[in-house]
Amino acid sequence: MNFAPIEQLFHIFDETASLLQEELSCTFLDALGETGENIFHGNVIQDEVSELSRKRLLNKYREISLEKFSKEDIRKAFQLAILKGMKENTQANHQMTPDAVGMFVSYLIGKFTNNIHAFSILDPAVGTGNLLFTILNHLSEKQNTSFGVDVDETLIRLAYAGANLQEHSVQFFNQDSLEPLFIDPVDIVVSDLPVGYYPNDVRAADYELAADQGHSYAHHLFIEQSVKHVKGGGYLLFIIPNNIFTTAEADKLNNYLKQYTHIQGMIQLPLSMFKNEAAAKSILLLQKKKEGLNPPKNALLVELPKLSNVNATKSVMSKIDEWFKQEKY
Ligand code: SAM
Repeated sequence: MNFAPIEQLFHIFDETASLLQEELSCTFLDALGETGENIFHGNVIQDEVSELSRKRLLNKYREISLEKFSKEDIRKAFQLAILKGMKENTQANHQMTPDAVGMFVSYLIGKFTNNIHAFSILDPAVGTGNLLFTILNHLSEKQNTSFGVDVDETLIRLAYAGANLQEHSVQFFNQDSLEPLFIDPVDIVVSDLPVGYYPNDVRAADYELAADQGHSYAHHLFIEQSVKHVKGGGYLLFIIPNNIFTTAEADKLNNYLKQYTHIQGMIQLPLSMFKNEAAAKSILLLQKKKEGLNPPKNALLVELPKLSNVNATKSVMSKIDEWFKQEKY
């Protein structure tokens, strides 16, 4: 792999965001969103920037022309710059989805959409868009209609800038995803769910998965909201905490999933990807029920090994391929 283009782009993002951070007295992440917009427009669009800095920015922007970079190089360089900004101050729940997870989820969506040429996709916790863009870049041969929602203004601005830089046409909504969404049901919902309690008990009361007492789990409500926004027969792929089926609310979630979806499987991500066992995650695979649609004979239950363990990874991948052959094709 040639890292030079990624490095070159990263330096432009980094240097120009740092300059804008000083000029606009904002955080690095906000400045990165601004510089992304500038690069897309080929201009400096912030009125507050001094003449000298404007010239320095324009000189930097002229060093690159985006058409020469692949979408994946642009995504990776922007991702590196976001990671740098996130080191400053970011809550665990707002972190970007790691690349390895994004690649693996893209592979799974590729398998689920094997025989279709166009699909609509929604990420209701789109954050920086990194997960969504990884999928769009890996499935670029298919026609997509994409939607992203996030409550965090800084992150969704980064997603907006990232979409422009990578030329992905995505409709973004900056709102609480658990409030009503003005998005028609899609073919696929994908999301690295925010985990924890949802503070708005009044809104939570509208959900079947609301807790009987106290705050509800946001990640459970997100699953219900997603099931509402996917078409019958559509797929849902969620990155969830490993312990989701062992908490006090697990029975309710299980019953809900059985009523509205066919559980396709659960793939445990390698523990080595996470700080500790309590933070470890899995990918939950669901299909919304539809008349005439049968559940899989066997759910796909696998534990991914450390990806550096090539032989073990190959053997798990062939198990997954076999499952798709048996159940889906
Ligand atoms: N996949 C994203 C990426 O690659 O950047 C990261 C998702 S991050 C783990 C979870 C996201 O959920 C955060 O961006 C956070 O702002 C968002 N979030 C949390 N609560 C939300 C809510 N009620 N409505 C919409 N978004 C929410």
